[in-house]
Amino acid sequence: MKNDAYLNAHSQLYKAAAEISLDEEILTKLDKPEHLHKRVLSIELDNGESREFLAFRSQHSSILGPYKGGLRFHEEVSEEEVTALSMWMSWKCSLMGLPWGGGKGGIKLDPHELSKTELERLSRAYVDVFQDVLGENTDIPAPDVNTNETIIGWMVDEYTKKTGKDGKKVFTGKPLDLGGSRGRTEATGFGGAYILSELSEAEGLQPENTTIAIQGFGNVGYYFAELAFDLGYKIVAISDSKTALYNPSGIDPRNAGEYKKNTSSLAGFEDASTITNAELLELDVEILVPSALENVINEENAYKIKADYILELANGPVTKEADEILDNRLIVVIPDIIANAGGVSVSYFEWQQNQTGVQLSKDEVLQKLEKLMKETFRKVWKIQQDKSISTRLAAYVVALERIASKYKANN
Ligand code: NAD
Repeated sequence: MKNDAYLNAHSQLYKAAAEISLDEEILTKLDKPEHLHKRVLSIELDNGESREFLAFRSQHSSILGPYKGGLRFHEEVSEEEVTALSMWMSWKCSLMGLPWGGGKGGIKLDPHELSKTELERLSRAYVDVFQDVLGENTDIPAPDVNTNETIIGWMVDEYTKKTGKDGKKVFTGKPLDLGGSRGRTEATGFGGAYILSELSEAEGLQPENTTIAIQGFGNVGYYFAELAFDLGYKIVAISDSKTALYNPSGIDPRNAGEYKKNTSSLAGFEDASTITNAELLELDVEILVPSALENVINEENAYKIKADYILELANGPVTKEADEILDNRLIVVIPDIIANAGGVSVSYFEWQQNQTGVQLSKDEVLQKLEKLMKETFRKVWKIQQDKSISTRLAAYVVALERIASKYKANN
């Protein structure tokens, strides 16, 4: 497997394994998924022609419980990418103390090329081919890049129809009327803002003096920006795949979000000047928040990063080479497995609500989330300080130790 994301995940695992002297046998197991499912989906397009798509589900580790992880619709989806993403899900669930292992799936396509009806057929086709490997006690998918609660709703319906079992228990990130949780849509972005708040507390940062640049203005980037703005931080740059915007006096994310909703793009937004996505990453800000895709901070630009802190809301945005460069330059990286763990945490609250039949209010969900995110951050931060290691390594230490002790308890 040569994909950068996988090489990154592999190298992070080995580094953390060395730190805690992880048993060789466990390490070998954790370096690859328990199952990697690959299928070809065939759907009929609106014009009557048929088209095929490659689809994947990686089930990394079930030692802590059912596989858990999102579904991504993107041109770059590959066997290696879903493998890496499923590994990160295992560490994330472990770090957050959830009774789940890691999974991840995806379909290789540019979803913007398909109509809504074609997307629905494709989402249903995914469930048709993978119905036997998904299940409330085996593998529980959720939304990720270019997927959302509507897509999850189609999948719930398809799963229920095809298997006769309750699909609502098998997917999280569902629409509210299908048993979704209040606060799930905001959870990953808001969770990142809770971490930012706790980081500020630890490092003595004042929100009003703290500038932020955010790459990616989708579900995660938008809600992060919204809460960070409300907490008084200054958002000076945002971007989507086509446009990056900069205003040193600050951008109101709600205005930008409204504009994007109306025009489907950030291009032409008047309250800011246009820069490139590469320039956004190199802005002289306190906090840089990659919230789009993997490997955007790499050997080529790591020397040019001027931010003091990187908050990884995307999964795997920093390559292993860049991680070392940033570490040497004393730039603090708050790793994905804690920074973006808000989504899977509220997925867990959703799953609990489905089991108990008790619906929490949005405030209750967000309070629970804030408490969990901040407590976990403090635990990781303390290890980072006590051991003088990077925050990433500290987070991996907590995650891997829990997995290792479960292996030992089972043997
Ligand atoms: P999304 O599809 O809602 O948004 C992605 C955003 O990134 C869009 O604004 C898109 O235009 C932008 N983008 C894509 N390519 C880009 C590029 N090359 N440069 C700049 N921007 C680009 O997806 P999302 O759910 O917000 O996920 C974003 C990241 O967060 C992913 O890495 C995902 O794995 C991670 N994540 C998501 C969740 C979740 O709950 N949705 C949870 C944990 C982690």
